[in-house]
Amino acid sequence: MSRPSNFPPPFSARDYVAEPTDPPDERIEVGVLVVGAGPAGLACAIRLGQLIEEHPELAERLGEVPVAVLEKGKQPGSHLLSGAVVNPRALRRLFGDRFRMEDLPSYGRVAGESVYVLTRRAALPIPPPPPMRNHGNWIFSLSQLGRFLAGRAEEAGAMILPETAAQKLLVSHGRVVGVRTGDKGRSREGGELPNFEAGSDLVAKVTVLAEGTQGHLTGVALEQFGLRGDEPQVWELAVKEVWKVAKPLDRIIHTMGWPLRAGKRFREFGGSFVYPMGDDMVTIGLVVGLDYRDASVSVHDLLQELKTHPRICKILAGGERVQWGAKTIPSGGFHSLPRQLHAPGLLLCGDGVGMVNVPRLKGIHYAIESGRLAAEAAFRALQRGETPASALSSYDDAVRDSFIWDDLYEVRNMRQVFGRGFFVGGALASAMTMSKGRVELGKMRAEPDAEQPLLVTDRDASYPAPDGKLTFDKLSSVFASGNKTRDDQPSHIRIERRVPREVARLWEHMCPAQVYELGREDGDGTVMVEVAPSNCVQCGAITAKGGRLTPPEGGSGPEYTVT
Ligand SMILES: Cc1cc2nc3c(=O)[nH]c(=O)nc-3n(C[C@H](O)[C@H](O)[C@H](O)COP(=O)(O)OP(=O)(O)OC[C@H]3O[C@@H](n4cnc5c(N)ncnc54)[C@H](O)[C@@H]3O)c2cc1C
Ligand code: SF4
Repeated sequence: MSRPSNFPPPFSARDYVAEPTDPPDERIEVGVLVVGAGPAGLACAIRLGQLIEEHPELAERLGEVPVAVLEKGKQPGSHLLSGAVVNPRALRRLFGDRFRMEDLPSYGRVAGESVYVLTRRAALPIPPPPPMRNHGNWIFSLSQLGRFLAGRAEEAGAMILPETAAQKLLVSHGRVVGVRTGDKGRSREGGELPNFEAGSDLVAKVTVLAEGTQGHLTGVALEQFGLRGDEPQVWELAVKEVWKVAKPLDRIIHTMGWPLRAGKRFREFGGSFVYPMGDDMVTIGLVVGLDYRDASVSVHDLLQELKTHPRICKILAGGERVQWGAKTIPSGGFHSLPRQLHAPGLLLCGDGVGMVNVPRLKGIHYAIESGRLAAEAAFRALQRGETPASALSSYDDAVRDSFIWDDLYEVRNMRQVFGRGFFVGGALASAMTMSKGRVELGKMRAEPDAEQPLLVTDRDASYPAPDGKLTFDKLSSVFASGNKTRDDQPSHIRIERRVPREVARLWEHMCPAQVYELGREDGDGTVMVEVAPSNCVQCGAITAKGGRLTPPEGGSGPEYTVT
């Protein structure tokens, strides 16, 4: 049986580590450089701004640009996609009395909740298990929240550089000294087009990587500094849609069961969410563990199937899809965290290092809290008389003392138990939940998603045909993501092009954006994989399942506004 991991991509982390190459007077110098304008990176920039305001003498030492935030999307929020039901704890700590939750661009408090176990036709309501209880949480669009946070970060003095991808980690004498941004205006073959702009070296006293799931430079840094944890990281793939609807939804809904199969051999773990966004919109998404084995599984098409369920299509009846998107979620949890969250000159936060509580489907408040703590450690490192190394290591201590650590420890084996099948996994997960994590199951091994041996079924034969109203094909979904990637730029996707048929089928079905197609067969069981990189919405699934996503030219990819 083929495993995608047997066909590794042509990618070496070493190619993305470099010394600065621009002449010293052409380098852009900043105080603290944050990579990623997501909740983690923006919370870091906001907290740094608050600290600098309280200590103006530091601002002088940090130079003209005390804090810069790089974002590869067209603008902050363009690449942000989430549920999003948010635990307000970290936002309250970040803003103190500067903002109340009511001042943020939310869709209000969670007003009620229901959980259903679905079969093809029925929906059995069950009492919400503890991880799915959301009393006191608030509903947001993360893309909108990201734009709000970016505004606050700018007010606090940060310079935000959108359409700018951090491509290489700049390391000098064993210490991270910044990043090199990607070139713009290269042709498919790599030549310089008339609008060519070379990337730049951005050098900083401290670099904070807040790249989110499948962070490109985070992966490079984990390799470079030997920081990977004992257990490998694993991921879920989530595909979601935002709908304008005729009738308001009065509660948040989670479902389990159909359209996923319970059989242990399929390893299909996941569930769906339907959240109201005010009176006239809802968001619906399906999350599936990427350790699944059937090469015909397509999360995009399973979401289309889910929408045909009588309980769900009632919610969408008379409505219209307004946006679509996809993203991975790191799900290894506590045991997959890196050994250390810092390296010389460097701090790592948020989803990039896997700070997600998967049973609760929550990561935003951990991202915000880790960004805030990273800011405090960076600030310490910049103080006169501090040893930068010990100041940066205080970040690890602060995270260990925070609710991030306690929460992730409590659910430490939650994702791994589902490798034993839905029913055994469900029973073990309940035992862990009821005991608040005190049931000791030992450290359960997680196998990398790409190491799961593949099987091929005809699951794809029963996906619903797209009707353009309730159900859609992948290309119209890519259009609904606002993706405007230039299609004559170099490919940013690294895969082995000639692979066994089942690996090619896996990629073809898995990719929610129709980037892969089966090409020429050679009669020896292998096929050539054809790649359409400009469809890519940078969800990161290919990195989990045997390839490698690298950042394309800055400004490429989806342009989410309400996801
Ligand atoms: C479908 C779905 C539903 C979810 N539901 C919830 C929920 O209801 N509640 C909850 O709390 N959490 C939820 N989560 C998880 C939550 O969204 C994440 O935990 C959170 O967004 C992590 O924040 P982050 O700042 O670490 O990363 P991100 O939000 O991913 O932000 C990272 C940013 O960095 C940018 N970036 C990355 N690499 C580079 C680079 N090299 N150069 C420049 N820019 C770069 C990206 O474009 C992006 O804007 C959900 C996730 C998904 C996918
Ligand atoms: S090619 Fe892009 S959209 Fe498709 S799976 Fe890979 S990262 Fe996701």
